[in-house]
Amino acid sequence: MSRALIIGAGGVAGVVAHKCCENFEVFSDIMIASRTKEKCDSLKERCEAYKKKVGSGTNIETAKVDADSVDELIKLINLYKPQIVINVALPYQDLTIMDACLETKVDYLDTANYEPPDTAKFEYKWQWAYREKFEKAGITAILGSGFDPGVTGVFCAYAQKHIFDEINYIDILDCNGGDHGYPFATNFNPEINIREVSANGSYWQDGKWIETKPMEIKREYNFDEVGVKDMYLLHHEELESLGLNIKGIKRIRFFMTFGESYLTHLKCLENVGMTSIEPIIYEGREIIPLQFLKAVLPDPASLGPRTVGKTNIGCIFTGKKDGEEKTYYLYNVCDHQECYKEVGSQAVSYTTGVPAMIGAAMVLSGKWKKPGVYNVEEMDPDPFMEDLNKFGLPWKEDYAPILVD
Ligand code: NDP
Repeated sequence: MSRALIIGAGGVAGVVAHKCCENFEVFSDIMIASRTKEKCDSLKERCEAYKKKVGSGTNIETAKVDADSVDELIKLINLYKPQIVINVALPYQDLTIMDACLETKVDYLDTANYEPPDTAKFEYKWQWAYREKFEKAGITAILGSGFDPGVTGVFCAYAQKHIFDEINYIDILDCNGGDHGYPFATNFNPEINIREVSANGSYWQDGKWIETKPMEIKREYNFDEVGVKDMYLLHHEELESLGLNIKGIKRIRFFMTFGESYLTHLKCLENVGMTSIEPIIYEGREIIPLQFLKAVLPDPASLGPRTVGKTNIGCIFTGKKDGEEKTYYLYNVCDHQECYKEVGSQAVSYTTGVPAMIGAAMVLSGKWKKPGVYNVEEMDPDPFMEDLNKFGLPWKEDYAPILVD
């Protein structure tokens, strides 16, 4: 019986709130708080209908909060008295929310690492700098409990614990075989998504980063239940923590699938300056082109009813067991329309929101409760893996996968 404060009311928060209601034995009370109160109220309304479907008794409250303000956050936390804050606003709010948690001694969880608004570079260094403070305060912070980062880290911890003596190579493959019918739209926050894919790529090899040009490395892969897709090497935040936390690791890469139309639109937008985060003056007012672009693109939360197809996300491992070389593929396949039928969201929000709820449940139930700041792969993967099967993201295994060259 716990109280959780969910910050944000977008695509991912929608799934987190529904899934907390489904897991009402843990989440007896939730508050949805975000910048726009109407969005929180409309989400509460959808959750009330869902509660009847799943027989949930979770009490839901809503509030308005500016998560850029530590003071506002502290006031709200003191008023609501949650045991955990689930941050599914934007990466820019990670540090203010962590500061408020420290001040009020409440546990913290997020799905994306901090990124300064004026520099398109995400790194764990800002949040890892809170380790000692969280330890001293006796509270837990779980970083990156979405799908990637999140489930991918839990998959690595599971493979390390049960399948290998030593993991040497990991390829994380993120395939979205979904089609929303728009010429161009992003499946999660457009600003964060476009910053991620237009940045240089990189991978971790022999203890250092190898940098690539954006979309320089392309491979083709035949994904289970989706089919053959082009995928591109990207920098991704979990590479940084996994490079440190996985024993014997020699190389980790991250690939994401993109269709030709998406890339052509992106190139064109880049060429005309629309993806820039440098402020410009427009009719006497300062605007950031990428934020303006976000305002004209479809809201990711609106893609649910129109998206068909499946996602397939997982990790291919190569390593050693009892002296023998071994390969192993652990992945999840998720159907956009099934997610929409269940909680009114497409699979990208679903695959992020379910693990955020599970991570929070792990902390609340004491299974992942440890003072300090942790990435998910530092925790016991077993109870989390069980909950993935229980709450809608069952995993599949392949002991002879095709490898990526
Ligand atoms: P959305 O843009 O749909 O939602 C973000 C929400 O945060 C909105 O409700 C927004 O309010 C709110 N918000 C923004 N700024 C503030 C603020 N200062 N104070 C209070 N609320 C604020 O994003 P998504 O739901 O798609 O993504 C949520 C998070 O999940 C992001 O951090 C994203 O990077 C992460 N993510 C992680 C993935 C993973 O696998 N690990 C995959 C996909 C996403 P408003 O509506 O008023 O703008």
